Amino acid sequence: MVKTYIFGHKSPDSDSITSSIVMANLEKELGNNDAKAYRLGNINKETEFILDYLGMDAPELLERVDDGDNVILVDHNSPAESVENLENANILKVVDHHKLALQTSYPLFLRFEPVGCTETILFKLYNEYDIEISKEIATLMLSAIVSDTLLLKSPTTTEDDKFAVEKLAEIASIDVGEYGLEMLKAGTDLSSFSIDEILSLDAKQIDFKNVKSIVNQVNTADIDDVMSIKDELEAGINKIIDNEGLDLFMLLITDIVNSNSQVIALGKDACLVEKAYGVKLVDNTVLLEGVVSRKKQVVPIMTENA
Ligand code: MG
Ligand code: MG
Ligand code: MG
Repeated sequence: MVKTYIFGHKSPDSDSITSSIVMANLEKELGNNDAKAYRLGNINKETEFILDYLGMDAPELLERVDDGDNVILVDHNSPAESVENLENANILKVVDHHKLALQTSYPLFLRFEPVGCTETILFKLYNEYDIEISKEIATLMLSAIVSDTLLLKSPTTTEDDKFAVEKLAEIASIDVGEYGLEMLKAGTDLSSFSIDEILSLDAKQIDFKNVKSIVNQVNTADIDDVMSIKDELEAGINKIIDNEGLDLFMLLITDIVNSNSQVIALGKDACLVEKAYGVKLVDNTVLLEGVVSRKKQVVPIMTENA
């Protein structure tokens, strides 16, 4: 039987990793025994916390797929964020909560919903197929929803996400507030990362019309803590701008406790941040009050103003 590779996006977050595992389990339950979860990059500290909590190993690293390989995409669908040689693979399914960016010349299973997390859609799929959600699967699902919605506080949060977390917390016997904050805080520990690693941990290449950009997001419980290495971060960002020929690099330092983001914006189009948010950058940085979601509070407003 042909193997099916299941994976989320590059610079994987907790949703990408856990959804790959949860989707692989669903495929097995549906009879696709050769489905296997993979990752397209290093595991971050938050995901490490989740896997440690469950005593699970991280999925194997996948560098590229061969022509004709069967793949299932979760938590992404943009080829730019996906595996190398995706264009020659056979995409069986996509389960995602991002905007559609994929075109194929053949039909496939697509499940897209504008919810806060891929795991919320997988929670629905398990219920629709009447597949039992184990304690372990529930913990994986719940962790990712808490991660993507910052404890159900991000504007991306929907009623479906809240409902899923409520049910999953029962199955997993987890106190969501307590576990969730501990998990998010684990993700803010940057001590073991180099500047280059910090700048690529959750980096997404996004073009705001013609403005070639990277938006990287780092969670913290204390913005000042991260700002204490601002000079080093800026030097690293300028290097990336030169190497990649970028017009703009935005580093969002997101305060998970108070739900704000300090942005460091560099590049010739940094003024786009000022225009979009009606703010003034001082020393390349400004606090964006209430901004926590790249998808809802950065991409649309930046694109509109570009
Ligand atoms: Mg993601
Ligand atoms: Mg996600
Ligand atoms: Mg994310």
